[in-house]
Amino acid sequence: MSEAMQIGIPRAMSYYNYFPFWYGFFEDLGIEIVISDKTTKQTMSSGSALVVSETCLPIKVYVGHILNLLEKGVDKIFIPSIQSIDHKIYNCSKIRGLPDLIKNVVKQDFTIIDATLDKSAKNQGLYEFLKEAVAPFGITDEKRIKKASKEGWKVMNNFKIMLNSGLSFEKALSYAKKGQVVITNNQKSYPISVAILAHNYNLYDERISMKIFDKLEKLDVKTYTAEQLSIEQLKEGICSMDSKLYWANEYEMTGAAGHYLQDNNIDGIITINAFGCGPDSIMVERISRAARKFNKPVLNLSVDEQTGEAGFVTRIEAFTDMLFRKKRASIINKIDIKEETKTSLEPEIKISKK
Ligand code: SF4
Repeated sequence: MSEAMQIGIPRAMSYYNYFPFWYGFFEDLGIEIVISDKTTKQTMSSGSALVVSETCLPIKVYVGHILNLLEKGVDKIFIPSIQSIDHKIYNCSKIRGLPDLIKNVVKQDFTIIDATLDKSAKNQGLYEFLKEAVAPFGITDEKRIKKASKEGWKVMNNFKIMLNSGLSFEKALSYAKKGQVVITNNQKSYPISVAILAHNYNLYDERISMKIFDKLEKLDVKTYTAEQLSIEQLKEGICSMDSKLYWANEYEMTGAAGHYLQDNNIDGIITINAFGCGPDSIMVERISRAARKFNKPVLNLSVDEQTGEAGFVTRIEAFTDMLFRKKRASIINKIDIKEETKTSLEPEIKISKK
């Protein structure tokens, strides 16, 4: 395969939303994909060193992934500018300006493939965006691009089905890449259930979220995310929060919160947001206020490159411990011990209907 038919994709930001699609799409066109390595302390520090300290952690991490790809010798890197994903639904300015930001801070010689998707101002369709993405490889044939797009959707849809069924991000992606669909059938019962609300790039990057899914599993806590909800449920969730869809990532935060706050099977909510993120500060505040109405406990975890794992674990443990105690208390309050059986060795208990 010629070196020219190779594309670097940073394992950060939109990777966690769209990579299954990119995989099916570029593979079908015969373009080799090189992904950056998983986020490490080094990724964070090398990225942080090139941007102003106020920049949010996911962007610092993204810069670190670009540097990692350059170390691997990749000379074409896909850095899309995803402005607006639907009519009047926008990404935050940092995501929209990613190609410009990278051009300004990474002073190395490489080609940025900065295809733009703008469904609001430009009323662009997906095809125009894809055409721009493959133009640097000399691919212009409409039929070929559309066929590859179908392959992309195939991988993406399989991936979503598996993620929705509760499979981990890594496993769902690995099966989807092989063209397989494996559905989990986890029969284990958990005493406590928690919804985790965060942007996918914070949630599924194991370094940023500090493997929160594994930690909660060890604490016997079942986890839910926006990925287990349909788009209709997320839209209803946004309406129930008296909110309007404006930010592209409003679904995974406000929409999921609106749904899970009303779900009696969910005992608590955990939000993970990047320190200094404007959209998150508004959404998390809105979620915290609504949670008070529903008497649902919320743990807000704000992350930056200084966040230590020990403090993170302590807060999660304290939160789940409180949820266990709350649940035990609510069960005990529902139990009536019959007067006449109080003296027997095994008193009859019944769950009251109140
Ligand atoms: S939405 Fe927040 S976390 Fe994401 S890029 Fe924008 S400022 Fe950073």
